[in-house]
Amino acid sequence: MPKKFADLHIHTTLSDSTFSPKEVIERAKEHKLSAIAITDHDCVDAIEPALQLAELYGIEIIPAVELSSEDNDLEVHILGYFIDWRDKRFAYELNEMRKRRIERMEKMIKKLKDHGVEINIESIFKLSQCGSIGRLHIAQAMLKGGYVKNIKEAFRKYIGDKAPCYVSGFRISPQEAIGTINRIGGIAVFAHPGTLKKEDLLLDLVSDGLKGIEVYHPDHSQADILHYLKIATKYKLLVTGGSDCHGFGKEHILLGSVRIPYEFVEELKDAAKR
Ligand code: AMP
Ligand code: FE
Ligand code: FE
Ligand code: ZN
Repeated sequence: MPKKFADLHIHTTLSDSTFSPKEVIERAKEHKLSAIAITDHDCVDAIEPALQLAELYGIEIIPAVELSSEDNDLEVHILGYFIDWRDKRFAYELNEMRKRRIERMEKMIKKLKDHGVEINIESIFKLSQCGSIGRLHIAQAMLKGGYVKNIKEAFRKYIGDKAPCYVSGFRISPQEAIGTINRIGGIAVFAHPGTLKKEDLLLDLVSDGLKGIEVYHPDHSQADILHYLKIATKYKLLVTGGSDCHGFGKEHILLGSVRIPYEFVEELKDAAKR
């Protein structure tokens, strides 16, 4: 039997990727992936259409989400795998998160205007197809409007965590994110910890129900990978990984850059059944 591989971190047009669920599946197929997880920010609307296409393409779709949380102004992403994405209360909670994203977007657009950048909120809605709107959409609109030369410049000069037009304070806490994922039967995983390097917080969250660490990620160095593998072993945490592909949203396509052995999916699956 040939070895099977998975990518457990992929966005779609329902959040801030330029790839539709169909394009994601087609490209996953090209990369010979057996399973993928669709992990849109605060949105599960791509899961149903993806599941319908999955049969046609013979690819396994793992229902998932990437919840945006915040701890003392620090942006903490919590992934949830094998969630009950049809849970009614969860749908309501996601809707509230997306409403807060719209209010935050209005504030950011105002700040950008004070910095000479004119962004129309309608153009942002169009990009996200009524899913989750966020900073990557602003960056794309700025690029299109000729305000910046690339996405990186948009974050560096205007909307990055330390830049003048950034607005925080709209997200739930990591504890709430983990609580929600556990409530809907999912496995909560700390996303790309190497981008934060806050191991104290990560270990604190284990007592709040965190079950895994995203070890394999394009932003992780080889040293990061070894470091987080050690932590996962020491604290008996599950290991995940994925490309965090945003289509052309991050200028180059990441799908295919991270492929993890299917055994990791089986371990996640077993844990979700428990
Ligand atoms: P938001 O949830 O609206 O705060 O936006 C988060 C999105 O912006 C995620 O997709 C991040 O990966 C992306 N992001 C954050 N910082 C940067 C950066 N410096 N360059 C490119 N993308 C970024
Ligand atoms: Fe994103
Ligand atoms: Fe993330
Ligand atoms: Zn992501």
